[in-house]
Amino acid sequence: MGSVRISNLIKTFGDFTALNDINLDIEEGEFFALLGPSGCGKTTTMRCIAGFEDPTSGSIYIGDREVENIPANKRNCGMVFQSYALFPHMNVFDNVAYSLDIKQLNSSNPIKQMGIYARLLNKRFGKHPKETIEKVMKILKYVELDNHAERMTSELSGGQQQRVALARALVMEPAVLLMDEPLSNLDQALRHSMRNTIRTIQQDLGITAIFVTHDQEEAMSMADRIAVMDKGNIVQIGTPTDLYSNPASPFIANFVGTSNILKGTVLGEENGLTIVKGEGFLIKSANKTTKKEVDAIIRPEHVKVEAADSVIDETKTNVIEGTVVMSTYLGSVVRYDVQVGGYQLIVDTTYTSGVSIFKEGRKVKLTVEHGRVLLI
Ligand code: ATP
Repeated sequence: MGSVRISNLIKTFGDFTALNDINLDIEEGEFFALLGPSGCGKTTTMRCIAGFEDPTSGSIYIGDREVENIPANKRNCGMVFQSYALFPHMNVFDNVAYSLDIKQLNSSNPIKQMGIYARLLNKRFGKHPKETIEKVMKILKYVELDNHAERMTSELSGGQQQRVALARALVMEPAVLLMDEPLSNLDQALRHSMRNTIRTIQQDLGITAIFVTHDQEEAMSMADRIAVMDKGNIVQIGTPTDLYSNPASPFIANFVGTSNILKGTVLGEENGLTIVKGEGFLIKSANKTTKKEVDAIIRPEHVKVEAADSVIDETKTNVIEGTVVMSTYLGSVVRYDVQVGGYQLIVDTTYTSGVSIFKEGRKVKLTVEHGRVLLI
């Protein structure tokens, strides 16, 4: 029962409202990301779910249990933090087994407890129960650390330490796995491989996961759905493709991927296309709008760059004249910065070997299909 439902959650710190009426419905088995800039309330939301923070008002359900009066350690949530929060004086196995030991300790009779205390104090004189060993080794195998079970965690790389933290959360078989920026301390290459590791394990176990990040690429590549947060509010919820192709505001368009945002005034409609005029451009969009002042959103990869003397049928596509300010070769892609009126547009074109790159100062024509201009 790992669904999470949050209704009208408000959290204030003194006069400051950190969360302003948050509503979320996260399905069992879903990988859900909370994405937003620093200070928007992601961690506070997570801490309210985990039970580390008391909501000012509103309700939180994990499965069909209202968790308001349930302490953090009884909510059946596993947590993974940015700082791995491992015990440096314990080896990998003991770090992962620790919570199981504590659970057993809490549920044992007093005589049995004395034995477990002794084992916890000095593992050399005791053994973990067979069930614990099996559980821990199974989960260590999952995170590919079964060969490192006896290593001290201080001897591990950052990625390995984060996998121990993940194993420690998973071994408790939580209903919900909460991860707060777990990859932020890792270098680029490790981040990529850990994204895959976490996603694969989450899918294998069918566990509900809530993942906090300010990195849109991380959220897009891992999550089934994303809630974008801004200043204590949820501003849009959707799948990565929903958010990318239909951002609800310029803020989201810019936060989820790179966007060109051109401010303009709607002049009218012609042949089913909305005509927008802005500073130094006239553009037509297949989008309908009732607004007069709009933001025209154009993704860099939806623009093509042609030579200034190219003959292009302007009834079929937008044609915008501009001047290349900078061209950057990025391997498979060439990124152009092109001055168009008062805007510098970003254009990403696929690099084909042998095709020449337009240099700085070249006059060019940019083409954008009408259906690729989103009006917000
Ligand atoms: P980051 O990505 O930087 O971690 P975040 O989106 O997770 O940011 P939160 O940590 O949830 O943001 O904080 C939201 C707001 O609430 C911030 O302005 C923060 O300063 C404030 N805040 C969080 N905890 C407290 C607290 N205990 N007392 C006062 N203000 C707090």
